[in-house]
Amino acid sequence: MTTHKKDLGINTQLVHAGERGGPPQGKPVSVPIYASTTFTYDSMSEVDQVFSGEKQGYIYSRYGNPTVAALEEAVRVLEEGAAACAYATGMAALHAAIFACELTPGATILASQDLYGATIDLLYKVLGSYGIKTTSADFSDIQALRAKALEVRPRVLIAETISNPLLKVCDVAACAEIARAVGARFIVDNTFTSPYLCKPLKHGADFSVHSATKYLGGHADVMGGVVVARDAVDLATLIGVMKLVGGILGVWEAHEIHRGLKTLAVRMDRQCANAASLAEYLSGHSRVSRVHYPALATNQNPDLIKRVLRPPHAGALVSIELQENTREAAFRFMDALSLCVRSTSLGDVFTGVLHPATASHREVAPKRRLELGITEGLVRISVGIEDIADIIEDIQQALEKSAAAAR
Ligand code: PLP
Repeated sequence: MTTHKKDLGINTQLVHAGERGGPPQGKPVSVPIYASTTFTYDSMSEVDQVFSGEKQGYIYSRYGNPTVAALEEAVRVLEEGAAACAYATGMAALHAAIFACELTPGATILASQDLYGATIDLLYKVLGSYGIKTTSADFSDIQALRAKALEVRPRVLIAETISNPLLKVCDVAACAEIARAVGARFIVDNTFTSPYLCKPLKHGADFSVHSATKYLGGHADVMGGVVVARDAVDLATLIGVMKLVGGILGVWEAHEIHRGLKTLAVRMDRQCANAASLAEYLSGHSRVSRVHYPALATNQNPDLIKRVLRPPHAGALVSIELQENTREAAFRFMDALSLCVRSTSLGDVFTGVLHPATASHREVAPKRRLELGITEGLVRISVGIEDIADIIEDIQQALEKSAAAAR
């Protein structure tokens, strides 16, 4: 603090002492947490210039903050995009990306039928109430998708790189080509893969969106979302949503997600290898009738997986359908786990299990859930970085114990 007056009163000292001393000597090696709502300048003309955009600078943390900006830059670089903007959650980020497509009432969104349940609700309930129509399609059937796009002439296509919870890998390049052909923009939710496994913008998508709450953060202790745009012109709208809707990412959260990012590749390598071993083990198990894991020969075209994801990986999630395909059996199995965590999320360092019918797809009508293949006995496993032998042993004992309890 610098002031002309030397003998300040105690109340003034309490408020100002030690503040605004300027940047430290020497550069910090990690981005500091700039826990400051506003930024001051030496003169009002400078403040005015920053407000007008004539001069670069921070002014108010809802408009931008250096700690958050550092994370945005990191994710932008990883996704090989032109611009990035962070938000309070993945849902806020998805909303911002859709908003950046500048839809007007009457416009149509063509959505993958396999989207996360809350995204489906955002499209149908929230955007629907503004006159924006959503229609869904199976994005794994490229021919049918093309026909549907030509029929409904959407302004936006939206899909997930790996779908939730049946883990179908999206042919991002083919969908991007369809979007271009009908003059639509293509939003990809890249949460399940992270930029370590897939960079949707390189395949032609317009926006890559993350729930940073998952793999980017990776430790189940922070929520956040990021949108990366292929084209720099979209930055103004993304910032506009941040400023005016106000769902900004906090500085502490930005710091934690940025710290999580540093180990993303190391975690992902282990998690994907563990998932591959677990899928192989479960596909031979008598209590499991079906294993959903992209790299299993029975699931999907291996060439597509190699093209979309970083070989040899096929993601770190495995979904299983129990032989006794009921909610009771799924709950018994999940209750019997002693290491794997019953957790309504994914992408964390620990192995977490979720029951899609009562969690991610709870709001989807039961009949529709069944049409989508989300049965009552389906359990999604987000594989962690623990020793694979311990993960398998826990799942094995829970399968046996829950089956014995049923007898
Ligand atoms: N996208 C996907 C694929 C998700 O699984 C989730 C949450 O589970 C979200 C978006 C929403 O993210 P958040 O909970 O950070 O808002």
